[in-house]
Amino acid sequence: MKSELIERIFADTAYVRMGGSAEELRTAKYLQSVCAELGLSASLEAFEVDMATIREATLTVDGQEIPCRGYLCAGCGEVEAPLYYLTEGDRYSLSLCRGKIVLFDGYLGYWRYRDLLDNGAVGFISYDGNVNFADHDIDQRELRSYVSKGEKIPGVNINAKDAVAIINKGAKTAKITLKQDEYKGSSHNVIADVKGEIDQQILFTAHYDSTSLSQGAYDNMSGCVGLLSMAEYFSKNTPRYSMRFIFCGSEERGLLGSKAYCEKHEEELKNAALVINLDMIGCIMGKFIACATAEKPLVHYISYLGDELGFQVKAYQDVYSSDSTPFADKGVPAVSFARAAGRDLAPIHNRYDTAAVMKTEQMQKDIDFITAFASRMANAAMCPVAREIPDNVKELLDEYLLRKRKKA
Ligand SMILES: [Zn+2]
Repeated sequence: MKSELIERIFADTAYVRMGGSAEELRTAKYLQSVCAELGLSASLEAFEVDMATIREATLTVDGQEIPCRGYLCAGCGEVEAPLYYLTEGDRYSLSLCRGKIVLFDGYLGYWRYRDLLDNGAVGFISYDGNVNFADHDIDQRELRSYVSKGEKIPGVNINAKDAVAIINKGAKTAKITLKQDEYKGSSHNVIADVKGEIDQQILFTAHYDSTSLSQGAYDNMSGCVGLLSMAEYFSKNTPRYSMRFIFCGSEERGLLGSKAYCEKHEEELKNAALVINLDMIGCIMGKFIACATAEKPLVHYISYLGDELGFQVKAYQDVYSSDSTPFADKGVPAVSFARAAGRDLAPIHNRYDTAAVMKTEQMQKDIDFITAFASRMANAAMCPVAREIPDNVKELLDEYLLRKRKKA
């Protein structure tokens, strides 16, 4: 793909686009228009997502109001209770949650939320951001339906600077007020096909939504550019395997687009030999990785290909927190490619994820490598990756998809 087009796409999509929002739909239509420009027809496929509009969200700690954003889909409620800072999930620490509003580190994952409910917490406070950054941004978080399972307690997210100040002061009590309207909305996958010589497919995925503060250049318009570039290449160089390019919506909300796709197209997935997912490529610094949710030989194959083509790639076997996972869970071998830059170089899910962290030449090189890999797979007499997920990887999928709790 021409450099000018790569740069134009980043410039044209330099805005926040949360899953289910009007801006996300605007991006879906934009990707459709770029496909058309490249001579491909793309269609939008809608799926239902939970939405909410916050009417009021306040946090008061020892009588002082702290800037916050209420958790979407965490219901309505007003609670006043002693404040407790939960630093670890051991039984003793959890036992102190009872009747408290609990401040905790990190994300509100499924098990964390179950722990809070099981131990009688009445409200929760999370935080994000960096204590040393100049901004006072607060990310918009949500209580995902597969986390709450309908059991809701009110919660807010605050900036890390305020979290530190609250704990430093030894704050005693907190009050959370949360009012919101919850409803159903829609998000979209954008789908484009390249017909090959046979009906069996190689699938490509990349999410195009972003989080509440992020323009999502690196995470993950970069992956979308990679897909567009390969769609352009293979539409001019007909592969043996047919190809489907899926730009996924609402990945940041829990892989909702890829989950919806896999549910709707479960029958067709029997025809898929491999899924290639791109999530964050082409940034200025960082190492290139390939995470194979597939048999071990694929890891070796990618490592050998790196040596053969003179391209650094660290390949390993694991489950990747991205759209490749729902496909692997349906038995389609998957590989995710990324250029991993680390938090100090190109932080994501905040205002710093812009085109400023991207480098067009690096994008081209990363895309060239992924295209070379895809060409070998798609032009093989038979795609060599075993069409089954090994048992050790199935176990990782059970943990990631919350069917099993990770052993401590
Ligand atoms: Zn991402």
